[in-house]
Amino acid sequence: MKYIVCVKQVPDTSGKVAVKEDGTMDRSKMATIINPDDLNAVEAALTLKDKNPEAKVIVVSMGPPPAAKMMHELLAMGADEAVLVSGREFGGSDTFATSQILAGAIAHIGLEQDDIVFCGRQAIDGDTAQVGPQIAEKLDLPQVSYAADIEQEAGKLKVKRILEDGYMVIEAPTPCLITCIKELNQPRYMTVKGILEFDQKPYTVFDFETLKDEPLIELDTIGLKGSPTNVYKSFSPPVKGAGITVEPTAEGIGSMVSTLAAKHII
Ligand SMILES: Cc1cc2nc3c(=O)[nH]c(=O)nc-3n(C[C@H](O)[C@H](O)[C@H](O)COP(=O)(O)OP(=O)(O)OC[C@H]3O[C@@H](n4cnc5c(N)ncnc54)[C@H](O)[C@@H]3O)c2cc1C
Repeated sequence: MKYIVCVKQVPDTSGKVAVKEDGTMDRSKMATIINPDDLNAVEAALTLKDKNPEAKVIVVSMGPPPAAKMMHELLAMGADEAVLVSGREFGGSDTFATSQILAGAIAHIGLEQDDIVFCGRQAIDGDTAQVGPQIAEKLDLPQVSYAADIEQEAGKLKVKRILEDGYMVIEAPTPCLITCIKELNQPRYMTVKGILEFDQKPYTVFDFETLKDEPLIELDTIGLKGSPTNVYKSFSPPVKGAGITVEPTAEGIGSMVSTLAAKHII
């Protein structure tokens, strides 16, 4: 039994956003973190593994070589294997091409009857929430989004989905794909044992050569060439001013009214 978790390394949006002259994001100059929803997805897989110790948790990420550090952290958290999908041919992928490549990588790992693919609901940088559902479509898997509770029984899952105005509990056969939200769990920390032993666990890089015979992987369905959307421009919004504090006195209110009137707001 395998739990395959798709994890994305994302820019730390609490830090500075670096933009290149051509308007695209300069990821090499930005601090990175593990996408928050993906930590919930990893925790969901590890929790199921706690109940089914024979299961393997495999984390998969598509990204540049520095993403290796994130993979080490995930192995130290308890994942059994890590796969980094990395290659020049994959660069410039939009969500369509990203899901194509990740689906190809998952097909290469192989899916069996009781296996589950986990994704976060959405990445904090791209923010589209498209990649999980697209992977499910491309692998012809049933999918359950917005998972806030997951129970696995032989050949099926019971999943509680949180919606805006309530929740629903549905069953899905395995193999299937689940997208996870923060209400699902509290991600565990790396352990000292995990940190000392992560380098004894399998860590593999899938490049284009590794995946090129997968039916989903064609040069015109991946990378910039396989991406139907293009980034036109990206930029940091102007920093807002510090604001003005007005004392609740006749003088303070008077000054606020004059300022608003001078700006033609009132
Ligand atoms: C023309 C174009 C070029 C781009 N070029 C680049 C580029 O060169 N480098 C770059 O980093 N981004 C690039 N992007 C952004 C990239 O397309 C998206 O970040 C990516 O497709 C994921 O979409 P998202 O962030 O909306 O993820 P969402 O759909 O919001 O993510 C949902 C879930 O899918 C999984 N997931 C998403 N992406 C990955 C991943 N890479 N690995 C593992 N799991 C994942 C995670 O579980 C995540 O929680 C480009 C976009 C466009 C349109």
